[in-house]
Amino acid sequence: SATGEKREHLYKVLVIGDLGVGKTSVIKRYVHQFFSQHYRATIGVDFALKVINWDADTLIRLQLWDIAGQERFGNMTRVYYKEAVGAFIVFDVTRVSTFEAVAKWKHDLDSKVQLANGNNIPVVLLANKCDQAKEGLVNNSAQMDEYCKDKGFIGWYETSAKENINIDESARFLVTSILAND
Ligand code: GDP
Ligand code: MG
Repeated sequence: SATGEKREHLYKVLVIGDLGVGKTSVIKRYVHQFFSQHYRATIGVDFALKVINWDADTLIRLQLWDIAGQERFGNMTRVYYKEAVGAFIVFDVTRVSTFEAVAKWKHDLDSKVQLANGNNIPVVLLANKCDQAKEGLVNNSAQMDEYCKDKGFIGWYETSAKENINIDESARFLVTSILAND
């Protein structure tokens, strides 16, 4: 604005998906520009804060909730999901079981959290570890588009936390949708 005052938003964003798909790695890459082969499994929930100078008038604080895969569909997820305004669901392109779990995560989320207007929160699907694409599952992007439409994802990206592929892009896409809802 002309006065130099920025509008500030604090948004809670969930990062969910099965154990080992790369949730912690994606967050570390996004927030700290860092990758390691050796994260310990997240216990319960970790938090990270990403501050985004969105535009001249808008500052966004993204509070990222990194939820342990082993908490899957337990009663605790309702507590974790509370007041989230967006989410990433992550799977590992080298492990089909983690893709099969995506629909369950999406259903769990939609059944437990809604926006104030009653709509589902925007969710982006991340096909992570695409640097290992030779053994990857995602070889038909039209089919993925159809899957996302069917399951109510706003979109999907092939990502690599290791090689820093599409991490910023997917976050920008989700934040754009969150802002549009706000
Ligand atoms: P989480 O349980 O979902 O939080 O998964 P982690 O972030 O702990 O990652 C599990 C393992 O996958 C670790 O050894 C990571 O180094 C590895 N990993 C995560 N993301 C990628 C990626 O994009 N590419 C590759 N090759 N490995 C990854
Ligand atoms: Mg983790």
